[in-house]
Amino acid sequence: MSQRDIATPSRTREILEEHGFSFKKSLGQNFLTEPNILRKIVETANINYETNVIEVGPGIGALTEQLARSAKEVLAFEIDERLIPVLADTLAPYPNVTVINEDILKTNLPEKVKLFKEVLPLKVVANLPYYITTPIMMHFLESEIKVSEMVVMMQKEVADRISAQPETKAYGSLSIAVQYYMEASLAFIVPKTVFMPQPNVDSAILKLVRREQPAVTVSNEKEFFKLTKAAFQSRRKTLWNNLQQTFGKEPATKEWLAKSLAEAAIDPQRRGETLSLSEFAELSNAMEALKPTDK
Ligand code: SAM
Repeated sequence: MSQRDIATPSRTREILEEHGFSFKKSLGQNFLTEPNILRKIVETANINYETNVIEVGPGIGALTEQLARSAKEVLAFEIDERLIPVLADTLAPYPNVTVINEDILKTNLPEKVKLFKEVLPLKVVANLPYYITTPIMMHFLESEIKVSEMVVMMQKEVADRISAQPETKAYGSLSIAVQYYMEASLAFIVPKTVFMPQPNVDSAILKLVRREQPAVTVSNEKEFFKLTKAAFQSRRKTLWNNLQQTFGKEPATKEWLAKSLAEAAIDPQRRGETLSLSEFAELSNAMEALKPTDK
């Protein structure tokens, strides 16, 4: 079976030539040409016959094929219409795959998941188009469809930021936005040499497992995320200066911020990157409780 894998370099070249396909850099088209890495991705995601999978950007079907061999059903969203006839050809042996020619960010996910014949645990497995990694991640995390796990390839630098802990350079509002919903861990690194064409940077596989409940309890999610963004606006500035930048410098606002910081027992001179998720939650909850009426 494995010599017929779509993902070998020679088969990939053959498919591309046969269909006269040329890569579009603007769509983040870097295809994986190493079946062993693809199998490792499927193993990392613990896919079996009791799992439905959503794939973003199947390309010519390299990862889709490996997923189809293990999962119950695969729903793959591909924006590039030139790839649709290619996929019809390469994935013909896999009746449990449905390819949808739509932009993942514009599709109606709750409607589309109804296409799965059975309601089963749902996972997202993808080699993401790097130009929209963060919007795609947030699209799934904030969606009403509850994905239990995501195993996704992205630039190593972004995977580092998402899985970062406090007191590190990589820690920021993106780490918090994702870790609020999911437990994040870096599964393995993928060298740039296994892609066609080769990207400029190394990639990493990030594994995200949904928490039963968000990591912290906040009274207002929108305001919590606003606060975390504010805290990292300028990394060299103190929390105090960054908060004033976003929330304002009027005396009443300053008093509100100072009281909230005191209530949460957080020194205003600290930098955002030193605050844990629970400290951000405490501060956000204090700000909500002490909010002046015009805020
Ligand atoms: N899965 C294939 C592989 O691993 O070889 C291809 C991965 S390639 C990095 C990213 C794929 O995402 C491309 O096929 C690209 O056309 C597709 N894509 C880019 N933007 C998209 C979007 N907004 N919605 C759906 N697919 C998209």
